[in-house]
Amino acid sequence: MSRPTQILIDISALQHNCQLAHSLSPSSKTVAVIKADAYGHGAIEIARALQNTVAMFAVSSLDEAMELRADGIRLPVLLLEGCFSADELQTACSQGFHVVMHNQEQLAMLNQLTSNQHVVTWLKVDTGMHRLGFDYEQAITAFDYLNSNVSVSDIVLMTHMSVADELDDGFTNKQLQRFNQCHQAIEKGAGKPVSRSIGNSAAISGWPEARADWDRPGIMLYGLSPFENKVPECETLQPVMTFQSQVIALRKINPGETVGYGNTWQAQKPSTIATVAVGYGDGYPRNAKSGTPVIVNGQRGKLCGRVSMDMITVDVTGLDNIQVNSEVELWGNQLSANEVARWADTIGYELVTRMPKRTRRKITNHNN
Ligand SMILES: *Cc1c(COP(=O)(O)O)cnc(C)c1O
Repeated sequence: MSRPTQILIDISALQHNCQLAHSLSPSSKTVAVIKADAYGHGAIEIARALQNTVAMFAVSSLDEAMELRADGIRLPVLLLEGCFSADELQTACSQGFHVVMHNQEQLAMLNQLTSNQHVVTWLKVDTGMHRLGFDYEQAITAFDYLNSNVSVSDIVLMTHMSVADELDDGFTNKQLQRFNQCHQAIEKGAGKPVSRSIGNSAAISGWPEARADWDRPGIMLYGLSPFENKVPECETLQPVMTFQSQVIALRKINPGETVGYGNTWQAQKPSTIATVAVGYGDGYPRNAKSGTPVIVNGQRGKLCGRVSMDMITVDVTGLDNIQVNSEVELWGNQLSANEVARWADTIGYELVTRMPKRTRRKITNHNN
């Protein structure tokens, strides 16, 4: 028996979520976003599990894309930040990667390709997020440039939404409107259809107009809703990651006694404290506050005192049948990473993505 701290990656849940994302917009092609090691879930395993159901993958960098190729993943891969040098663009061409074009420097790199090299470019339009992309006028010029460039085999027009997770915020409609205007002007100028890509998980779940030729779901594939509130489209998502450990010590303390570094938590009554083998060195957030729910033997205990590197302490007073070796879930099916994230002033995305190497990952699949 080794230290019981691990994450389980449920491939059947992943496949269920991917089907759900696709069913929102059956005529769209799915670009599964697996950047940052598939949000901490393991890019290779996730890519293998999805390669027969999605149209392509998206990652942030050439390095991430090359890791997929090294493992034999043959699908096209979109580089979401494009290339950082002409050398990278050459490699991207030879590997069949699609590249985002978001600035003039990237457009200029095309001149260094040889006549037999071709690439699919995704022209990024800045519709209000003001992070990457060309504004309306620049996008029209950039499109003409790409359209007349012999190295460019196809062009997708794309944008990204900044507040799609807030369904009562009208800014998303404004962004959609700006994007559609730009798209119409470009199609008119080109005299041919130009395909579009707009939505991340929040946009494709909550904004039907954002569903386009290519959808780019990320977080929802991993079973986490991008919304604070309940949204019907995301109700049946199944968490892919379960973060678990076990109780390794149990004690009773008297009222007035304190727990953990800094003596920050004090018992108000006779209390039972379970010590669990997980800490910030395993990916549990150190800034989770006392009171954060922790599932111990299927029941909700409360984090008490500071998170250590390798351990946490949980108030399990009054819970049934808690023992050394009792199973603990930090997040997963019984407790959403999004709920834990709120107690730690962050978002579920960050919690799952920053899992450290030392936390063992185990792949499970209920369909097999
Ligand atoms: C990360 C990313 C996505 C996926 O976003 P989710 O919120 O995880 O669905 C989509 N598009 C772009 C450009 C991204 O950077």
